[in-house]
Amino acid sequence: MKNYETLAEIQQDLSTGSIQCKDLVDFYLKRIHSAQNLNLFLEVYEEEARLRAAEIDQKISQGTQGKLAGLVLGVKDVICYQGHGLTAGSKILAGFESMFTATALQRLLDEDAIVIGRQNCDEFAMGSSNENSAYGPARNPVDPERVPGGSSGASAASVKAGLCHAALGSDTGGSVRQPSGFCGTIGFKPTYGRVSRWGLIAYASSFDQIGPITRSVEDTARIMEIMAGPDQLDNTAAVEEVPAYSQALKEDSGKTYTIAYIREALESPGLDPEIKQATQDLIQRFKDEGHTVKMVDFPYLDYVVPCYYVLTTAEASSNLSRYDGVHYGYRSPKAQTLEEVYTMSRSEGFGEEVKRRIMLGTFVLSAGYYDAYYTKAMKVRSLIQQETLEILKDCDFILTPTAPTPAFKLGEKANDPIEMFLSDIYTVHANLAGVPAISLPLGEHSSGLPFGIQLMGRAFDEENLLNFSSQIVKK
Ligand code: GLN
Repeated sequence: MKNYETLAEIQQDLSTGSIQCKDLVDFYLKRIHSAQNLNLFLEVYEEEARLRAAEIDQKISQGTQGKLAGLVLGVKDVICYQGHGLTAGSKILAGFESMFTATALQRLLDEDAIVIGRQNCDEFAMGSSNENSAYGPARNPVDPERVPGGSSGASAASVKAGLCHAALGSDTGGSVRQPSGFCGTIGFKPTYGRVSRWGLIAYASSFDQIGPITRSVEDTARIMEIMAGPDQLDNTAAVEEVPAYSQALKEDSGKTYTIAYIREALESPGLDPEIKQATQDLIQRFKDEGHTVKMVDFPYLDYVVPCYYVLTTAEASSNLSRYDGVHYGYRSPKAQTLEEVYTMSRSEGFGEEVKRRIMLGTFVLSAGYYDAYYTKAMKVRSLIQQETLEILKDCDFILTPTAPTPAFKLGEKANDPIEMFLSDIYTVHANLAGVPAISLPLGEHSSGLPFGIQLMGRAFDEENLLNFSSQIVKK
């Protein structure tokens, strides 16, 4: 089987009959089995994927297939799929089954995407290395001693390793982009509200977005145009019309843009010198190609990570209160009283990082500290939003590295949450501001590891962001 870069190539071969969906599914299943050491799939829908493939092959023979026929998709274990297990990488949801399907996923299924399985992730999407999963860490296919990033680490790793063609992840502070940088895939976080969150397990509701992980910008565009748009089941899903992104890509005539890069991001002491150099080279390339590049100051860079962690833990402490041993999943067998059902189920069911965040979030929302932490962080968020809008008035995009370093070793940062949090320094910005952002593979480090570049765009201007991204990766 060919190593397909785009769905269009797959569909081309499907249309001539040189392959069938059945062959694709068999191919990925075989690869999943041979890559078990990477611990990327929590469940593989073997029989079901085969049956769906046969059904879609039938439709192809009649010419009635959907737009995504031939797309074999992995889904992060935080997205509901009716009748399928769903644990958010947590013991507290062990044995839980979704009662409905997330809108974003349903739209892809309606166009004949095939889901091959449910992918490992950090517990409740909290983490940057996939080491916080209750089901063991996922590994990076480029170097299995290293993390794939997080929290959608296994989803990016699976796309890189060719265990599925694309994947759906979720991004609250970089969880689709940072693992894409670490694994060498393309990760896209839409504008807040562009994609419905109905059926996505909530971590921090004012930040969360579902986003695709792919091997080509073209596939990102094709998945996005189907998945995005208003949804009556999610009041925060925006009503803005969704352009035909893939058509716009085809029509793009190599337009020139204005790109800002953040001085503080490039001067950040934690930035790996090779990644810095590659970012500078890219800036030079933009200039050579006739784009306008501006250096801008963003004095809030040191505040993005603290602001993000105050606000997301506050939201998480509220969102995760529903896992109480009564409504869902795990209930401590030792609990005798109602109080014990709550405390023991939560103490035993949640992992360390999730508990740390629930406690931190509860603290910053508590009566005596609310203004000092939560209100203050909200004010900082407003400043970050305003400053970002200001930059994006004159500039089409903001360029930063995706992460300050390439993938680190398993265990390297596991005992130092602050170090771990700093790997999100460039990605949380887009979630705080609500703007769309993409991570593109930029190069190879001397260690042999991939690393990424990030572009943020204007809210609801995914079209230009995708067009420009495609210009960058094509050359
Ligand atoms: N690494 C970040 C965190 O731990 C981002 C996670 C995410 O985007 N879900 O919060």
